[in-house]
Amino acid sequence: MAGTITIKNGYVFDPLNEINGEIMDIFIKDGKVVRELSAAEMKDVKVIDASGMTVMPGGVDSHSHVAGAKVNAGRSMRPEDHYKANLQKTSLTHSGSGYTVPSVYKQGYDYAAMGYTTVFEAAIPPLEARHTHEEMRATPLLDMGGYLILGNNFFLMRYLHDGDTEKAAAYVAWMMKTHKSYGIKCVNPAGVENWGWGKNIHSLDEANIHFEITPRETIKGLSEVNELLGMPVPLHLHANNLGHPGCCTITEDSLKILDGVKPRQNMDVEWAETKMDPARKCSVYLAHMMFNSFAGTTWGDCESGVKEIANYINNKDHVVIDSGCTPFGEATVMTGDGPAIQDMYKLTGNKWSNTDVEMEGGSGVIPFTYFKSNPVHSLQWAMGLECLLLINDPWKTIMTTDSPNGGPFTKYPEVMTWIMSEAFRKQTFSECHKWANDRSELGSINRELSLYDLAILTRANPAKTIGMAHRKGSLGVGADGDVTVYNINPQQLDANNYEALLQAFRKAEYTVKGGEIVAVKGEIVSLPEKRTYYSEVHVEDEKEKEMLTDVKEWFRYYTLGFANYPTPEKYLKNPTPIQVNVVR
Ligand SMILES: [Zn+2]
Repeated sequence: MAGTITIKNGYVFDPLNEINGEIMDIFIKDGKVVRELSAAEMKDVKVIDASGMTVMPGGVDSHSHVAGAKVNAGRSMRPEDHYKANLQKTSLTHSGSGYTVPSVYKQGYDYAAMGYTTVFEAAIPPLEARHTHEEMRATPLLDMGGYLILGNNFFLMRYLHDGDTEKAAAYVAWMMKTHKSYGIKCVNPAGVENWGWGKNIHSLDEANIHFEITPRETIKGLSEVNELLGMPVPLHLHANNLGHPGCCTITEDSLKILDGVKPRQNMDVEWAETKMDPARKCSVYLAHMMFNSFAGTTWGDCESGVKEIANYINNKDHVVIDSGCTPFGEATVMTGDGPAIQDMYKLTGNKWSNTDVEMEGGSGVIPFTYFKSNPVHSLQWAMGLECLLLINDPWKTIMTTDSPNGGPFTKYPEVMTWIMSEAFRKQTFSECHKWANDRSELGSINRELSLYDLAILTRANPAKTIGMAHRKGSLGVGADGDVTVYNINPQQLDANNYEALLQAFRKAEYTVKGGEIVAVKGEIVSLPEKRTYYSEVHVEDEKEKEMLTDVKEWFRYYTLGFANYPTPEKYLKNPTPIQVNVVR
């Protein structure tokens, strides 16, 4: 029976169902978790014996750069990244290459080998949506979706400047359908627009050129639109001034703008059973917090500002962050924040690319290596871990490396082990520059996260935060049959033995996707179908028509015709629209 399996006797960690290491059997039928299988079904069902092992829902990555034009630019400008990491084809799998920016096939296999089954692309420029979907479609195994770059969009800047939230909402709804995307991404609000004039924005109340809208107005307006429409995801924010000493202040002030905003997730979906309320509680998702948390005034006196932002988040309930950790080694920085890339070019002199996607959004790519011997890089390592350890409630944090910005996602096992093992952190401290210790709090933190916490940070919370907990991030009845089995016996877990943890996280014992075993000890053994999620957001026809008059009028400035703008569903693998804002 396809998609039917039993995972027996494992220690189960399923935070959305408040299951913390109980020995349980998981039953999956036709790809979905069920309460039990009948005697007849049990007779010839596939069984995984997970005795003495850790069982979690399949991993969910809510912020990674895995598809689209800038990812591909990263691949083509870095041949050196490709000959270093190769993958041979097998009778089942494609060949592949690439360390920080792997080819589409390799990235699908690499994620699955680590136990991940769901990955969301963090930044889709509207005019590159087709390309993004082509790459998502070609990425094997992973269920995917992506956020649309809208923080510097002509129409939204105009509508929000004029205070026309309803028209802005109609536009966002139409754009989600048109580009088959899932949520609103806001990169360097109002600032990327200024990049068209070779400038940036450095304060929340500075209006940009021509559109005369400020970051504060942009963040507030996009959030209003987001909650008016009842989007699955909170506003996904890459704050202004990212990567600059002192940026922690503007980051905290940006979060304050949305204090008091009531989150409203209006999705028409079937929810899997969970003990906890699976709806999102936050109105803002601060992406890659580490990059937004520098204190100080220059690179000479910079220090961690994580504590300050973490204190704020500890006292509020509207913020969720992902960490953007920087394990040491090679990375490829890629972002919709064009001016930030130019700043990195000025710092490093590395080869770089910088593009404007017909002014709808900017983008840049630059290779980068984080060295243990470098004071700032060492500090960044400490800051990334502080983000996950100084915020007390694990339901406010998500673990990422902002792959491949802080480092490739294949370094997740290191990050998972650092947050679980003080001994591993100490070992790394002993190898890196003293700024890591002197200019951050990390050295004084003895918190070690549990397997339950880890299941929150890598499964339950990313799924809940982005509105995928109706089927991902839990093992409740009705959830997708996505399961990771790690070779870790929680009864014998020893955080001092970090080598064992690293090994277990690098290659999951089993990765199960939709009830099919897809990887065993890191080796891909089957390639079941995947899905692509997007938000089909409903607004009144009249509102859409009115808004489209403006769009069509402006389209004479585009290099393509209006009819060629949308991304048809055929670009998606098993398109799975999520109905949003359905009026009954
Ligand atoms: Zn990112």
